[in-house]
Amino acid sequence: IEKTLSIIKPNAVKQKHVGEIISMLEQNNLRISQMRMLQLDNVQAKMFYQEHIGKSFFDELLNFMLSGEIVVLKLEGENAIARYRELMGATNPCDAKEGSIREKFGDKTDLTQNAVHGSDSKESAKRELALFFK
Ligand code: ATP
Ligand code: MG
Repeated sequence: IEKTLSIIKPNAVKQKHVGEIISMLEQNNLRISQMRMLQLDNVQAKMFYQEHIGKSFFDELLNFMLSGEIVVLKLEGENAIARYRELMGATNPCDAKEGSIREKFGDKTDLTQNAVHGSDSKESAKRELALFFK
């Protein structure tokens, strides 16, 4: 069974959308097998986003991810990685399809604050899950 990592980002937690996002996961048969609320520290955030170090948006992304509590979830299901990416919608909330998590809860004026993260491959899922779930 495929596993993936979901993060509910600080803007969605602050705006009290955790419950609605979890409902969408459940309704779409993405089984939650583990879940934690936490605040990232600088070292964890850099480790998590290591592929983006040096990019123009990296500092903004790091500041945002450190700005409040997040919820990390381990999701399981057939084809879970692709199905969850589909449910999230495009990276930029302005481009995210109607009814997707990022269309509903992402900030349409600031693409950094796009409400959720999802692993983009089996390799990323394995690496990212290991950072949060022992
Ligand atoms: P995620 O990895 O969060 O699931 P993604 O795979 O759709 O999103 P990535 O290209 O991996 O997008 O970028 C990681 C995150 O960095 C994005 O989710 C977004 O929060 C932020 N980001 C990406 N591109 C930009 C940009 N051009 N300007 C500002 N922030 C950005
Ligand atoms: Mg990504």
